[in-house]
Amino acid sequence: GLLTGWILKRQLSPLLHTAHALRELATANRAEALPVARPDEMGQLIASFNQVLDNHRQREDTLRASEALTQSILNSLNASIAVVDEAGVIVAVNTRWQEFALENSLQPGTPAPRTGVGVNYFSVCKPTAGNGSDDGVQAGVGLRAVLDGRLPIFHLDYPCDSPTQVRWFAMTIMPLGLGGAGGAVITHTDISERRQTEESLRIAATAFESQQGMVITDAQRRILRVNQAFTQITGYSAEEAIGQGPHILASGRHDAEFYDRMAQALEAEGIWIGEIWNRRKNGEVYPEWLSISAVRNPQGSTTHYVGIFSDISEQVRAKAQIDHLSFYDPLTHLPNRRLLLDRLDQALHTSTRHARKNALLFVDLDNFKMINDTLGHQQGDRLLVQVAQRLRSCTRDGDTVARLGSDEFVVMLENLAEDNIEAATQAESVGNHIIGSFEADFELEQVHHHTTPSIGITLFGGASVAEGEEPLKQAELAMFQAKAAGRNTLRFFEAQMQAEVSARAALEADLRTALAQQQLLLHYQPQVVGAGRITGVEVLVRWQHPQRGMVPPVQFIPLAEECGLILPLGQWVLETACAQLTAWAHDPALAHLTVAVNVSADQFKQADFVATVLATLERTGANPRRLKLELTESMLVDDVEAIIAKMDALKARGVAFSLDDFGTGYSSLAYLKRLPLHQLKIDQGFVRNIVTDPNDAAIARMVVGLAESMGLAVIAEGVELQAQADMLAHLGCHAYQGYLFGRPVPLAELEARVRGQ
Ligand code: C2E
Ligand code: MG
Ligand code: MG
Repeated sequence: GLLTGWILKRQLSPLLHTAHALRELATANRAEALPVARPDEMGQLIASFNQVLDNHRQREDTLRASEALTQSILNSLNASIAVVDEAGVIVAVNTRWQEFALENSLQPGTPAPRTGVGVNYFSVCKPTAGNGSDDGVQAGVGLRAVLDGRLPIFHLDYPCDSPTQVRWFAMTIMPLGLGGAGGAVITHTDISERRQTEESLRIAATAFESQQGMVITDAQRRILRVNQAFTQITGYSAEEAIGQGPHILASGRHDAEFYDRMAQALEAEGIWIGEIWNRRKNGEVYPEWLSISAVRNPQGSTTHYVGIFSDISEQVRAKAQIDHLSFYDPLTHLPNRRLLLDRLDQALHTSTRHARKNALLFVDLDNFKMINDTLGHQQGDRLLVQVAQRLRSCTRDGDTVARLGSDEFVVMLENLAEDNIEAATQAESVGNHIIGSFEADFELEQVHHHTTPSIGITLFGGASVAEGEEPLKQAELAMFQAKAAGRNTLRFFEAQMQAEVSARAALEADLRTALAQQQLLLHYQPQVVGAGRITGVEVLVRWQHPQRGMVPPVQFIPLAEECGLILPLGQWVLETACAQLTAWAHDPALAHLTVAVNVSADQFKQADFVATVLATLERTGANPRRLKLELTESMLVDDVEAIIAKMDALKARGVAFSLDDFGTGYSSLAYLKRLPLHQLKIDQGFVRNIVTDPNDAAIARMVVGLAESMGLAVIAEGVELQAQADMLAHLGCHAYQGYLFGRPVPLAELEARVRGQ
């Protein structure tokens, strides 16, 4: 009512003024018979006045309706609205203003009006008490400017403290009429929420541009937004990254399983945190610490992912450096004692799983103290660095060369042979290599220096169980023995091993001379059929050693195979056996004998094996039909076609093949069937207990059956007892070799036996 009343008064006042005058005039006329106007004129006037009044009443009704509408609209607004007149006096307010005035009147120190209708707004536009804010003064100045027509609109955002929170209001003053002449409308709107949102956004925006790389993707993991740090770390600009998937950063260092686990964690927990290797635009791979959070909507489905990461290459590098310092010797960069013990421990653990041996070589420089004392520590350091290099050059990649301190080095060799002596020989050869590498002078500053090492060796792993540092102590003890033995040498911890290794080295040297000085000879063992008729012989090599006496082949054939001497040795046997065949061919009593010759794998593998055999036959004039070559299963597994081709070529000339030690290998029957064999030789291992062990008997029976089915002959070796021969005969094997029928004997003895039968 207040507002409409005021508006009506302003707009209708001229009209009301006239009406008032007219009514006064009419009353006067009736009473005093107005002299100035004629009655008909008066009637007309009154009629038109009534008309005016009717019109006016109608307009008043319309206005009142419109006023009610306006008021309810204003009241429904969330803003506080007041209307002031030209002087700044409040003439109307809406409900919100009344509440607002009431609320704020409780709060001293607000510029806002504790006001109602009739109050001059300028009177409340004062500096705010307490906090000294001049928002009130500004509001006054603004209102003045609007009312004076100097300002089309005035805005002011101001805070308003309440005991619990700071609220913010936006004040707007707008002129009502042109140039402010008609007063003004003042509105106050609570903008606390908007400001809060703006503030969070501002904070978020600042946070987003932090030092950490950030990336926001949609649910499909397409990049929507990245920050400056992202670009700095990855090298991809926002334009390059947006729209792409995070895979542009993939380093290839993680497998699919890694990313699967990440996706699972995001799905289940909404977050994944961890270290990841990514690739920069320039290709460089780097580690980062990454946390990914899934942003979910109120329905619980993921709408975005936020990734925050930092480049941790520096930390990783620093850690690696610390690790290096604690595990490596700073002077030589070799593993230190700690790392060596670590690896030793590992080797001890893994070696229990397989039979291979490992070795520790304890290398100590001879007279190192003297170098330090006479040439100085710097020269000593130089020497140690070069020693480290030489030790490295004597070892393979998988071996460990460590420096324990001072002039003590340790070399650890892993995965040596299973056989003790063989492994010891391998370790010894590395040791000798090291000693040899010290022969050249070391180049120190302005001096050439010669020095020598003393080396102690111990084997570990396989069956022999050693604990912790045990092998290290053993190798060190052995090193002291090497020193005691006069330095510049090596010693084994195990005295027996030392002896064996030395003996073996001696034996190898001896074997070379044996070949040259014809210390080798052949023994002949009869092969018989039925009750004992000799049909042939197997030649078995013997070594008549000048000091050791007769050495059996098991002691030198493997050695000859290892050091390559088997080739000349085998050739000598073949040559001698063929020459014997030729000699017997002229003797009717012996001409029927066949000769079986053992052939080693290395011999058979020679590309010119066939040619060598044929040339030998040619040279000696032996009948190829009397020659039988004994092969073993293990040497027949490599290149089947090549093996068959070799055998075929010799078979074509009449040479026969016997498969020695049959039953001890693992070749398949299908495979054996393809080989052009003549005979299977049942290994003595099955013959030994053939009478008592049904398994051995069964195997022998199978071999016989197999030979029959493949059209091969069969012979049993190692027959010592008549019962064994009987059993074999019973099983269908009628050819034998063994002590029962004759031991391997020198030529004369054999010949006498055959002639005597
Ligand atoms: P092998 O070819 O299986 O020879 C059979 C071995 O059994 C021979 O041992 C022989 O003396 C022995 N033996 C024969 N009958 C009996 C018996 O009734 N009871 C027992 N307990 N043993 C018997 P030897 O002569 O010590 O030869 C051992 C192995 O040395 C041979 O096994 C063969 O593999 C190899 N060998 C011998 N001479 C040569 C050769 O000239 N060249 C090559 N490459 N290897 C040879
Ligand atoms: Mg044999
Ligand atoms: Mg055999």
